[in-house]
Amino acid sequence: MPRTCTICTHPSREALDRALVGGASNRSLASLYDVSEAAIRRHASNHLPETLAKAKDAEEVAEADDLLADVRDLQARTLAILEAAEGIRQHRTALSAIREARKNLELLAKLIGRLDDRPVVNVLVSPQWLELRAVIVGALDNHPDAQGAVLKALEGAGNAT
Ligand SMILES: [Zn+2]
Repeated sequence: MPRTCTICTHPSREALDRALVGGASNRSLASLYDVSEAAIRRHASNHLPETLAKAKDAEEVAEADDLLADVRDLQARTLAILEAAEGIRQHRTALSAIREARKNLELLAKLIGRLDDRPVVNVLVSPQWLELRAVIVGALDNHPDAQGAVLKALEGAGNAT
């Protein structure tokens, strides 16, 4: 029978997850939220990666959706101009509106394509890496200075990818 994760069901789960991602030590979180260190360790390596991957996914989809809405709006306006220009036989204007409309369509196609085949491969949210990271950081629980330095270096490594 699967054991219920006390972190997943914790009322402060979001804050806890954020603190974990921010590099807070299991020990300090355990005493802060009155949970066991083991529970935090288990949660960090088994459940946190999935949450992170989902959040990243949702964010990318939201960004692409915003862009999509903008381009659709642009396209609607371009088509309105095209219609107006055709109505008064302004062929040059109509032709440039058609060119713009075509560019909008190309952009839309690219955006939609990006929504469909987003390969989400991020080593920083892989369970293996998070587990290793937790082990490295946890091993330095009694050496706050070294722990701080390691966390800083790990963050730098994350930004470089
Ligand atoms: Zn959990």
